Order: sequence, then structure tokens, then C-alpha cells
Amino acid sequence: MEQQIETLFKWLDETTELIIKQEDVPYLDGLVAASELLIYRDLPDDLEEGYHNQLQTQIKKIDLSEYTAEMRRKALQLAILKGMKGQTQQHHYITPDTVGMFIGYLVQRFIGKDQPYTLFDPACGTANLLFAVLNQQESLKASIKSYGSEVDPTLIQLAYINANLQEKEVEYFHQDSLKPILLEPVDVVTSDLPVGYYPDDVTAQAYELKAEEDHSFSHHLFIEQSIKYTKEGGYLFFVVPSMLFENDQKEKLQSFLKEHTHIVGLLQLPETMFKHDSMRKSIFILQKKGEATKDPKKVMLADLPSFKDAKAMENVLQQLNQWFENER
Ligand code: SAM
Repeated sequence: MEQQIETLFKWLDETTELIIKQEDVPYLDGLVAASELLIYRDLPDDLEEGYHNQLQTQIKKIDLSEYTAEMRRKALQLAILKGMKGQTQQHHYITPDTVGMFIGYLVQRFIGKDQPYTLFDPACGTANLLFAVLNQQESLKASIKSYGSEVDPTLIQLAYINANLQEKEVEYFHQDSLKPILLEPVDVVTSDLPVGYYPDDVTAQAYELKAEEDHSFSHHLFIEQSIKYTKEGGYLFFVVPSMLFENDQKEKLQSFLKEHTHIVGLLQLPETMFKHDSMRKSIFILQKKGEATKDPKKVMLADLPSFKDAKAMENVLQQLNQWFENER
């Protein structure tokens, strides 16, 4: 599998380099064009002859059907990471694979294998997290209806490419997700939330979790918006700063969560994933309150070890199994 991912990544990278050299565009835009070439295997008529031939040779070198959806996701992810390298905009960060796969595991444990459901990521970026979660739900790929929303034009294009490359259907919204979304509430929300201040104070006025003075925290507004678009009894899995409750808005956030949700779990991501302790993140699990829902007997708490440490990870998974047993 590793070898095939590498081959597909190399193809994407080489083709992207050809395109950016000729067309003088940023790497990520070239990557969108290279991926489209891979999917549609079609060239525009008006290309300069040498360039046309080079691209034609590239097309002939690859057969997409030899690669599974996970291989395609991973190869594209490697190319996106290459394109994002050196960019300073923090919001361009893609959710790491390990985190996506772990959330995928959690979603399956909470929702069960045989239950069809709807899934939404309101800050979907390149949709790497969305697909890492989806590709974990082996037994029922066909019956998960998925949605993603993203404001950044390049990232939403990469999200489209990700879906097309994997031949999966996702309904995307290219918009500010903190404005109303034309979407019925879903069963599951997963999102690696953008952290920081939300600049649009007028839109923030519609939120209970708005700041009284200055800009509001976008991750707080995202939590409120996600709960709004979740069905009663539905689950939410967020990647949040571990310091979520260490700011002057914490009381407001806590009482909002208490009113509308059950706090189900807080799992600290491995220390080794972050440069500074202050940047550390956690997986935060909520259930939206409904008629038949109740607080868990115990909140699921864990400090996750490095994902590379198989033994320690096994230990944590056993603890989680125990948690699920006790909650039955
Ligand atoms: N999970 C994504 C992935 O795997 O590529 C990465 C998510 S990234 C941490 C957070 C995303 O939120 C960024 O892509 C950013 O552009 C997006 N974002 C920030 N503010 C937004 C807003 N108001 N509406 C929609 N998306 C927003």
C-alpha cells in the first residue's frame, strides 16, 4: 500500500510541477488541475504542443482504477501538505491522518456499524478529516450522506477534488459556515475547528456565545452553530484547543454546553504532535440533548499516547472499551 501511495503521490507531484512551471500558478492550484487531469483524462485543445505532449505522456502513465479510495486520499494529502509547506496562514492546516482515523474509530463506536447516518463538517478544509472518517466506516459506505462547508476557495476546490478522486458523493457549501446554511440537522458532526477571533461582529450578534466586547472566538461560535445543525441525540466530535475552557468566555461556554448538550468525552491528543504545550489539542465529544438522552455515567477522559506507540495505544483502546461496556 505504501508503495502505491508513493507512486500516485509522485504522479500528482510531477504533473503539478509541469503545470505550475508552464502556467505560473501556485502549487495548490496546479494540484487541482493535475487531479482533474487524473480524473477526466482530458486536455484542452489550445495547449502549446510541447506542453500538450508532456501532459499526454503523464496521462498514459497512470491508471486510477489500480488505487483504492484510501490510497487516493493519502496520496492527495501528501501533495496538499507539500503545497501548504511554508505557508504562514494557520487556517490552511490539514487535519493529520492519525487524528482523522482515530475520530473515525470513535464515530463507529458511538454510532454503530449498521446504522445509516448523516455527517457534516462545517470547517471541512480539504475534506481530509471528512474522508478519513468516512473511509473508516467500512460496512456502510453507501448509506452515509455527507456534507462539508468551507469558506476558503482553494481549500473547497481541493475538497471537491478529494471527493471526485475517490468517487464519493459529498454535498459542499462554499460559504462562511457561521452564516445560515441550507442544511437539515445531521446525526454526526466532525470538525477540526478554526481557532481564533471571528472578524464579522455583525454575524456574531446572532450567537449566544458572542463576546460582549471585541471579536468573538470563532471556535466557540462554531460549536454553537454545529449544535444547531445536529439532530437531538446526535453526536459531535471536535478537535479543539486543550485550553478550551481557559479564557474569559469559559463560563458562558460551559453553561451553554450544559443547557444544550451532554459532555461525553475529552481526549487529549498526544503531546508529541505539538510544538508547544499551549498549542496542544483535544478531541471533544458532545451529544445534543434530546428526549431520551442523558449524561454519561462517567465522562470519557484520556491522555492519548503517541499514535506510534502500539502498546500504549492498545492500552487506551482497552480503557475505551471498558467505558463503552460501563455505559451500556
Ligand atoms: N479538517 C480540515 C482538513 O482536513 O483539511 C482542516 C480544518 S482547518 C483546521 C479549519 C478550517 O476552517 C480551515 O480550512 C478554514 O479555512 C476554515 N474556516 C475558518 N473560518 C471559517 C468560516 N467562518 N466558515 C467556513 N470555514 C471556515
